[in-house]
Amino acid sequence: MNRTIIHSALAMFLSILCSRDICAKELVFTGARLIDGTAAQPIEDGVLVIKGDRIVAAGPRTAVAVPPGAEIHDQRGRTILPGLISDHSHVGIVKGLTVGPENYTRENILGQLKAYAARGVTTVMALGLNGGLLPQLRAEAHAGKIPGADLFGVDRGIGVTGGQPPDAVIHMGSDQILRPATAEEGRDAVRTMKARGTDIVKLWLDDVGGTLPGKLQPAVYTAVIDEAHKLGLRVAAHVHDLEDARAVVQAGADVLAHGVRDKPVDPDFIALLKAHNTWYVATLALDDATFVYAEGPAWAKTPFVRTALSPELKARFDDPAWQSETRTSAKAQAARDSLAMNLANLKTVSEAGIRIGFGTDSGATPERVPGVAEHRELALMVQAGFTPMQALNTATARAADLLGLADRGRLEAGRRADFVILAADPSEDIANTTRIVEVWRSGRPQEVVGATSP
Ligand SMILES: [Zn+2]
Repeated sequence: MNRTIIHSALAMFLSILCSRDICAKELVFTGARLIDGTAAQPIEDGVLVIKGDRIVAAGPRTAVAVPPGAEIHDQRGRTILPGLISDHSHVGIVKGLTVGPENYTRENILGQLKAYAARGVTTVMALGLNGGLLPQLRAEAHAGKIPGADLFGVDRGIGVTGGQPPDAVIHMGSDQILRPATAEEGRDAVRTMKARGTDIVKLWLDDVGGTLPGKLQPAVYTAVIDEAHKLGLRVAAHVHDLEDARAVVQAGADVLAHGVRDKPVDPDFIALLKAHNTWYVATLALDDATFVYAEGPAWAKTPFVRTALSPELKARFDDPAWQSETRTSAKAQAARDSLAMNLANLKTVSEAGIRIGFGTDSGATPERVPGVAEHRELALMVQAGFTPMQALNTATARAADLLGLADRGRLEAGRRADFVILAADPSEDIANTTRIVEVWRSGRPQEVVGATSP
């Protein structure tokens, strides 16, 4: 055998080994402030060691040994935190200004997963309205075969016949939603979703303040929740109003996928959430997106945001006629009222010790921009009264806990090497979460948009 053949055989053998991360090099990120995702205070002058797709060690310089021969990445002056996790987003719904089943394509969804990861969101739960492409894309995302955020999802979801989510607004394909009319149809719908490998069950409950013909009947959602629990699935419920939220939590829903936005939460409701250990995801950015771009805030003009907008959406946001019409619309006023109530209720439920998850409903309409909405949500949580560290804990460790993902959400040995490197400290100013230098997902660097100017 000549030398070339031996070399190529050896190279092939090594590449098979290395593809399984066995001979992956250790990478060491030194000198950074580490925000580990838990409620712990930041670690100054920290060391993060990764190998393959996993974290090997994370902690202060005095406690973490730098392995000999490792590749050193000097990160002095920077902050490293776990990749953000959205518990409530959507994929494949929007393209440009259009919303419809024609947008549920591989290409469009891959673009959205990259947009999330480019802005530090490394895991996304597409909470409903997923078509038949979901299982394949999710498997590829889990295996790291496609770039961008990791993907979890609800198979379709359970809506109201003639009601939520409204066909006239969302334009779903027939394979993107189930609308059971009876308890037995509700159980069937859950079994169908389970058979297609849904990660969680989603249901829509309300009639948007009486503007839609009907609600999901208690007999139907009670059967849906019961069947889901029998099959080992948890249920997230779309709600807007307090009484709907109370009813669905009483029926056993595990996650409120939106905050209560019509009236202040009361002590009985808080006691109910506590008794059921219910998760509460406020999605503050949802109502905010309805009007905020028409007000032309400075943050919306940064490259971080502008690079996330399609040419059509940019043109809409820049159009003075759209701006003034949107600012003064009844819809905008209703959204401002909803947001104010949502902010106040989030503070109340959080201070009462209710479990808070992290989500935005990004990707459901053009204005809810994937990867931008999540940073807006963090800023709004701080506006609601969270400290920046509480907001970051919610968007990382807590968000992972909500999804039952023990392999991510914290900078800790054994977890996935999903992390974001920032040029400035977000514990000082939450706006610094947009000053992204690098994003790593499962130990691989992702394309980023570049740090915005301060
Ligand atoms: Zn949603």
